Amino acid sequence: KKKIAVMTSGGDSPGMNAAIRAVVRTGIHFGCDVYAVYEGYEGLLKGGKYLRQMQWEDVRGWLSEGGTLIGTARCNEFREHWGRKQAAYNLISEGIDALVVCGGDGSLTGADLFRSEWPTLVEELVKDGTFTADRVEPYRNLTMVGLIGSIDNDMAGSDSTIGAFSALGRICELVDYIDATAKSHSRAFVVEVMGRHCGWLALLAGIATGADYIFIPERAAPKDKWQSELKEVCQRHRQKGRRNNTVIVAEGALDNELNHISADDVKNVLVELGLDAKVTILGHVQRGGTAVAHDRLLATLQGVDAVKAVLEMTPETPSPLIGILENKIIRKPLMESVELTKSVATDIKNKDFDKAIMLRDTEFME
Ligand code: ADP
Repeated sequence: KKKIAVMTSGGDSPGMNAAIRAVVRTGIHFGCDVYAVYEGYEGLLKGGKYLRQMQWEDVRGWLSEGGTLIGTARCNEFREHWGRKQAAYNLISEGIDALVVCGGDGSLTGADLFRSEWPTLVEELVKDGTFTADRVEPYRNLTMVGLIGSIDNDMAGSDSTIGAFSALGRICELVDYIDATAKSHSRAFVVEVMGRHCGWLALLAGIATGADYIFIPERAAPKDKWQSELKEVCQRHRQKGRRNNTVIVAEGALDNELNHISADDVKNVLVELGLDAKVTILGHVQRGGTAVAHDRLLATLQGVDAVKAVLEMTPETPSPLIGILENKIIRKPLMESVELTKSVATDIKNKDFDKAIMLRDTEFME
């Protein structure tokens, strides 16, 4: 009987609970025992009560719950060899050798490293007398599958990630609220949205709400020129009768010399124009709350496929990442996608913005 553990790690995102629910119920459907690892990698290191077997009814109602009900954490010990050895000990003690991780690229990198190291970790546990060779024989390999839980929609080669459309929907709703009050007072609002390295949320929210101007990291604004361009655009829109201005700024917005552009920088330019300008930083309301239907469906389809992937994998199969491309659930070698995603940050650092935009795969960026 296969024993599968499912966990969430890194930043939470709406839809993670739907993913856990799907893994738990699909696993049970296929005759597996399914465990939840509480508190991300921290729970994997602590073991014991942090590893709990889940029954069908334990995940009832989880589709409409925001965040992650099994908790998430950042865990520096998992970056260390001894930490991962402790995690391997806890999993083998419970008889678990399959792990489904829902998290961002950091969590998935950790997961892939854990899997590649697993045979060595098991060998070490035998050598130091923790387990006998017979005891670990069924656990020589770890099966690992990744799901992308991220509001940023930053994974290369996947159209959307679990949580991205929920965050986008929330941002649009909040910008609509801001627009209503802004129009009343003829004000200008600079709205900062999440996205340290990825401008997807800012860009799509800006387009969906009809913002005057958008700042993102990938299409860096020309240094010393964006100020006059911004003024010109806002003024033009006012002359055409618009009563307010909205500028969306990604947390990690840059100019083309890699200087950070903050919401306050933008506000100051609008004040120079004589506008009554204010800053709103949306913060964690973007992350919390219930998942939109798209994310519930995406998480469900991907959770089902994660279990199927666990049951189909051989020790030679590279760890798969479950994604979605052109409306089809797909499996890709996990590290290929993670490396490609990380290379966008390098492209931006090297000021190769065209390449960064290409890898984002978003038509709106082009
Ligand atoms: P995200 O998964 O949202 O990208 P982080 O990058 O903070 O978030 O990663 C979450 C956790 O994953 C870290 O706290 C750490 O425990 C683990 N992790 C991240 N990168 C690695 C790595 N290179 N090796 C081992 N574990 C890692």
